[in-house]
Amino acid sequence: MLALVVHEPGRFEVMQVEEPAPQGARARTGEVVVEVAACGICGTDLHIIDGDYHADYPAIPGHEMSGTVVDAGDSAHLSAGDRVAVNPNIYCQSCRMCRRGMPHLCTTASAVGVTRPGGFAERCAMPAEQCLPLPEGLSFRDAALMEPLSCCLHGLAVLAPRPGDRVAILGSGTVGLMMTQLVRLHGGAPIVVSEPDAGKRALAERLGADATIDPTAGDPREAIIDALGGPADFVLEAAGIAATAALALDIVGPGGRVLQFGVCPEGTEVAMRPRQLFRDEITIAGAYTNPFTDDRALALLAAGRIDTDPLVSDEFALADAEAAIARARQADSFKIHVHPGG
Ligand SMILES: [Zn+2]
Ligand SMILES: [Zn+2]
Repeated sequence: MLALVVHEPGRFEVMQVEEPAPQGARARTGEVVVEVAACGICGTDLHIIDGDYHADYPAIPGHEMSGTVVDAGDSAHLSAGDRVAVNPNIYCQSCRMCRRGMPHLCTTASAVGVTRPGGFAERCAMPAEQCLPLPEGLSFRDAALMEPLSCCLHGLAVLAPRPGDRVAILGSGTVGLMMTQLVRLHGGAPIVVSEPDAGKRALAERLGADATIDPTAGDPREAIIDALGGPADFVLEAAGIAATAALALDIVGPGGRVLQFGVCPEGTEVAMRPRQLFRDEITIAGAYTNPFTDDRALALLAAGRIDTDPLVSDEFALADAEAAIARARQADSFKIHVHPGG
């Protein structure tokens, strides 16, 4: 079958590879094989291609996928022909963090498209329990957005704005735009989005931001606080750079809360003012992956609560995966979908 293979950091190609083999003998249920219909390119995939992530090389990346089960193995809940969305994160169920109810912090976690072959391939094997049957009528395109949306839902499960909170969202990529819509559902008022790209600002306004600011046009702190009518009650960092991580602490007001959601490069450091945390009772939290939120993500997608139309900016055939990756690196792109079926 055809797959995108990263031989080593920086060297990748679309090539013929062996069919995927279900891995290992699993105690609970066996493995299934899914014919991939759509697979989104995530920042993590670019990190794997660049060698800035813990992947096993040679790697077939791709973890935001939907498709059709072609081999259901001995699964009790799946049959061949089932349309599914995939939760790529696999937990050991036996380490200390798994036993404490935080399986996403599993010390020996594995992931489809990271530590084992993923969805930039015609077919992909995985444990059956990673597959969620799609609600009636949900498209493969929307279903491939389940994984990033479920990560956003976990972020808001860790820390969420209350109705009437002044919310600042820093960064308006795919995740920022999903978050803008979710914060709207949470009742953030007003919602101000900071984003340097004009097209992304326009989209943020269309999808629920009350105002947007260009952080490169002047002092972003002043512009955000002006637009909010005061310091933020809730700040969502969704850009993953030091400048916005620092800005979050500059715009949060008394009693405020900061969710650090963007993936900063390893080693990024930002100054913190302990006196501010103390005197203003600031809460800062992080959120990692998507424990127990994939079903809610599917429910929101099936009910049409998230406008997905503008979130997928480009679609490519698997044979053109190299062009798809180049496009994903451009500042004005959103989610890029690769379609192994053409
Ligand atoms: Zn991802
Ligand atoms: Zn574990």
